[in-house]
Amino acid sequence: MTDLNKLVRENVKALVPYSCARDEFRGKAGIFLDANENPYGKLNRYPDPHQSELKSAVSKLRGIAEANIFIGNGSDEIIDLCYRIFCNPGTDKALIFSPSYGMYEVAAAINDVKIIRVPLNVNFQIDMEALLPFLNNESLKLIFICSPNNPTGNCMKKADIKSILSQFEGIVIVDEAYNDFNDHTSFIHMIGKYSNLIVIQTFSKALGLAAARIGMAFADEAIIGFLNKIKPPYNVSVLNQRAALKRLNSISETEDQIKRIRKERDRLSFDLQQLGIVIKIYPSDSNFLLVKVTDATSIYNELVDNRVIVRNRTTIVDNCLRITVGTRYENSRLVKVLKNITI
Ligand code: PMP
Repeated sequence: MTDLNKLVRENVKALVPYSCARDEFRGKAGIFLDANENPYGKLNRYPDPHQSELKSAVSKLRGIAEANIFIGNGSDEIIDLCYRIFCNPGTDKALIFSPSYGMYEVAAAINDVKIIRVPLNVNFQIDMEALLPFLNNESLKLIFICSPNNPTGNCMKKADIKSILSQFEGIVIVDEAYNDFNDHTSFIHMIGKYSNLIVIQTFSKALGLAAARIGMAFADEAIIGFLNKIKPPYNVSVLNQRAALKRLNSISETEDQIKRIRKERDRLSFDLQQLGIVIKIYPSDSNFLLVKVTDATSIYNELVDNRVIVRNRTTIVDNCLRITVGTRYENSRLVKVLKNITI
């Protein structure tokens, strides 16, 4: 059983959070003279620091209580806040399964936290045997599990995630940024069962609002309390909260786009398989494909010359390109350019 009191940094436990004007008076009033705002204009007022309306909409969407929801300025902000709550700079560690999303390591470096890398196995699944010796490491505070994983595209085995959640006494962060693109159930529903679980999701992928920078964390109320305690008071702008609410009001549009993207993923995968330069397409639970090719860098450069940009991941997974599923037109154009490449 995770003892949150033992895990949270002493300075975080002790600090008195900033109390903003909207914390001290939360009701409706005709005249606000309490936040040193300009009285003129349309965007002159600070946003709701608690994002109550948005949390209520997210609560309905995901079927989880508002008290278990935190909204961040993108999930990247949430990743950084997790380090700041749980990891003492210079001494504590976090563990990732490589290759994975780059920001886990960058945010660790910013916070002076050491990273333990446990390589995924040949099927890009967690190597439970290799992980085991680290689980009792006193200075290990966070384990990041990216599922579906970026850049490999696949989900991790549910049984492995559950086994880590029950064996590890630190915090397990399950990053589900891409989970809307498959039929696997979310770990959100495990929150009541595991007090050390934080699930991260985002508006940047299936919900189509990467520009608006909205991330979500779902966890036990106590963990949400610490995220709220240390976040910048107005971390999500009025414009971004409105954009997210509008998006959730037309959820059928999102569902339709997800269906189209999944269909296109299958079509693109089939078309790529016909090409001589393609060696392997890894199975994807996401909105992108990891594709092993004959010579990733030369093919990447040829694509750039034809103004089609994919991600060259050869330094992370040998000779692999990560290709986001685009519109039907964009995918067809990509395949057409690739057909003329003979490297
Ligand atoms: N997690 C994963 C696995 C990602 O791939 C990304 C962005 N590519 C993020 C989180 C960051 O998402 P956000 O836009 O919400 O910061």
